[in-house]
Amino acid sequence: MHDDAAPDWDVVVVGGRVAGALTAARLAGQGLNILVLDSVEITSGTISTHFFRGDGLVRSLAELGLLDAVLATGAPPLRAQRFYADGAARAPREAAQEPGDAGYCLSVRRAALDPLLARCVAGMPGVTWHGRRRVVDLIWQGDAVVGVRDVTGAEHRAPLVVGADGRRSTVARIVGSPVEQYSDGARFMGYLYVSGWDFPAGEPEAEFSVRGNEIAYVFPSDGGTACVAASVAAGRAPSPGDDGERWLRQRLRHHPAFGPRAERARVVGRLVRAPATPDYIRQGAGLGWALVGDAGAHQDPWSGFGMDTAARQADALAAAIAVHGPGTAAMAETYQAARDRVTLERWTFTVKTSGDLSVLLS
Ligand SMILES: Cc1cc2nc3c(=O)[nH]c(=O)nc-3n(C[C@H](O)[C@H](O)[C@H](O)COP(=O)(O)OP(=O)(O)OC[C@H]3O[C@@H](n4cnc5c(N)ncnc54)[C@H](O)[C@@H]3O)c2cc1C
Repeated sequence: MHDDAAPDWDVVVVGGRVAGALTAARLAGQGLNILVLDSVEITSGTISTHFFRGDGLVRSLAELGLLDAVLATGAPPLRAQRFYADGAARAPREAAQEPGDAGYCLSVRRAALDPLLARCVAGMPGVTWHGRRRVVDLIWQGDAVVGVRDVTGAEHRAPLVVGADGRRSTVARIVGSPVEQYSDGARFMGYLYVSGWDFPAGEPEAEFSVRGNEIAYVFPSDGGTACVAASVAAGRAPSPGDDGERWLRQRLRHHPAFGPRAERARVVGRLVRAPATPDYIRQGAGLGWALVGDAGAHQDPWSGFGMDTAARQADALAAAIAVHGPGTAAMAETYQAARDRVTLERWTFTVKTSGDLSVLLS
C-alpha cells in the first residue's frame, strides 16, 4: 500500500515493557516525539524471573534517571553472589556479576518493575502512551514502513516503527524479518517466591547452584521476598497435574546449599511454570522498522540475560537514530551491527550451554 500522509510522530514504539519503555525513554531524551502503544495497560507483571546486572539494565536505569524509583521498591542491591558447584553446600562470597559503575545487580519482581517503568516513561516529556491499543497492521510507503494501524482502526504515522512487542512480535511477523539464528528450546524453568530466606552472611546475595544439567537460583527481591527458581532439561519438567511447590522443593533438595534453607522459608504464592521456548535471532532492522528486546532476539531464560540485552539494544538503537535519523537505511545498518555486538556473545553462550549446563562446572 502506498501512503504519502505526513508523520504524526518521530517514532512509534509497539510494546511498553522493558524493551519498549527503555527505547521510548532513550529517544525522548533526544527530544523526539514518541508514541508507545501496548495491547494492555501495564498494571501487572509477565512470566519471568528478574535478575539483572550493574552493567546492563541497572546502568540504563541510572542513565535514564529511573534507578532511584526502582530502588524505592525496596529491592536490595546485590553486591555479592555465591556459586555452589556440583552439589557443594558452601561457597565463597564472590563479587557481583558484571557490576558496572553501580557495583551491584538487582532483582525486582516484574509485577513491580513493569508498571513502574511504564508509569515513569509515560510521564516523560515527548512520550505519549496508549494502553489497550494492540497494533494489528503496518502502513507502507513503497518498501518502507511508515506507520501502524491499531485495533481501533486508528493510524499512527512515523518514519520508524519499533517492534518491542515480545516473542510473538506482530511487527516482526508483518515485516517478515528473517530468522538469522535458531535453536529448539531445551529447558523448563519453574519459580516461586518465599519470605524468610536465610542468607549465608545475613545480608542479601544472589545464589546459584549448578548440579549436573540443572541450575537453581535464589534472587533476593523487593517486598522482602526471594525469587527461588530451578531450570531443568525440558524432559524433566513437572506434569501439569503435579504439585508445583512439591516439585520445586524436590529440586532444591537436590542442591545441598539450598535444601535445608528451603524447608525453613515460607512460600508465598504458587509455582510459575515456563516451558521450553525456541531460541532465535531475527534480522534487527530494515527501512522504517527495528526490533528491540525479545521481538528480535530471545534466548533460554536460564542465563537471565533478557532484560540486560533489551536495555543494551535500546541504547544501540537510540545511538543509531541520533546519527542517521529514524528509519533510514543507514540507521538500520548501524543498528543491526550494534545490536549484534551487544547480543550475540551472551545469546550464543546461553544457547550452546542450555543442552547441558554441567559444562559450566568444567
Ligand atoms: C521464565 C523466565 C525467566 C526469565 N528470567 C529472566 C531474568 O532473571 N533476567 C532477565 O533479564 N530476563 C529474564 N527473562 C527474559 C525476560 O523476561 C525477557 O527477555 C523480557 O521480558 C523481554 O522484554 P520485552 O520488552 O522485549 O518483551 P515483553 O516483556 O514480552 O513485552 C512485550 C509487550 O508488547 C506488548 N505487545 C505484544 N504484541 C503487541 C501488539 N501487537 N501491539 C501492541 N503491544 C503488543 C505486550 O502486551 C507486552 O506488554 C526470563 C524469561 C522467562 C520466560
